[in-house]
Amino acid sequence: MKKILSFDIGGTKIAFALVDEEGNLCSKPVKYSTPASKEAIEALLKKNIAQFEDEVDAVAIATAGTVNAENTHITGSVGNFPKGYGDIDFQSLSKKKVFVENDANAAAWAEFKVGNAKNMKNMVMLTLGTGVGVGIIVDGKLLKGKSGAAGETHFPIRFDNHRRCGCGNYDCLEVYMSGSALNLDAKEFYKDDNVTSYDIIKGLEKQDIKAVEVFERWQQMVCAGVRIFASIFDPEIVLLGGSMAQFINYEQMKKQVNETLVSAPIDLQKAALENDAGIIGGALLCAENIK
Ligand SMILES: [Zn+2]
Repeated sequence: MKKILSFDIGGTKIAFALVDEEGNLCSKPVKYSTPASKEAIEALLKKNIAQFEDEVDAVAIATAGTVNAENTHITGSVGNFPKGYGDIDFQSLSKKKVFVENDANAAAWAEFKVGNAKNMKNMVMLTLGTGVGVGIIVDGKLLKGKSGAAGETHFPIRFDNHRRCGCGNYDCLEVYMSGSALNLDAKEFYKDDNVTSYDIIKGLEKQDIKAVEVFERWQQMVCAGVRIFASIFDPEIVLLGGSMAQFINYEQMKKQVNETLVSAPIDLQKAALENDAGIIGGALLCAENIK
């Protein structure tokens, strides 16, 4: 059985674990805060790889940012990472094969192989975090596009230049559907910069009328996003991940989405693997790549 040392690199934390080729964690994930410079990130990866590389067949890296077709380098901008992060030569960090994939793609692959989209052929996974991570499986294959950017949510969903997106454009789906969007919605609604998505979730638990309204408006934008992906890709299932996914009303949203679809109805569920999806999916893709 092959064993992979698998990293999930995000803007706020880096996690890794040993994973076998069937997607089982062989060690408890270790977590670090993401260092503030490219050099410090490289040093952290190098140190941990050196410790385990003799025990494994390859190293997997699931990272924010679009990744090339050869699975070696980041090709697009990585917003909240230190300068130069996108230029890291990951292969230079290990004597074993290093396989790189976008974190949302890795998470989708994990759900497709061992999570809530197991035994399906077409699925979309939307991770609602700082941005929106999108992973798409079509006919059992991960959809990458010509530059690894298939599914990116940087297209406008309204046309009055209301909200600037991190990509530079206005009113991308991402700035209305992401976890951070709920935070912006809260500040706008209360006209108070100190109100956060955390306050909305607290209010939701107490059934505070205003908090419920803010949350439901945001949930409608998530629903709009699900509709877009369900219409384009006609998947058996759409999964939602990220910390906000637990608060979604799945039955209500599924009904709403299916009311407008012209295709057979889709299923809509919360992703199963939570924080380990990137680590597991990266390892599974890597194991297939070195077969
Ligand atoms: Zn954008």
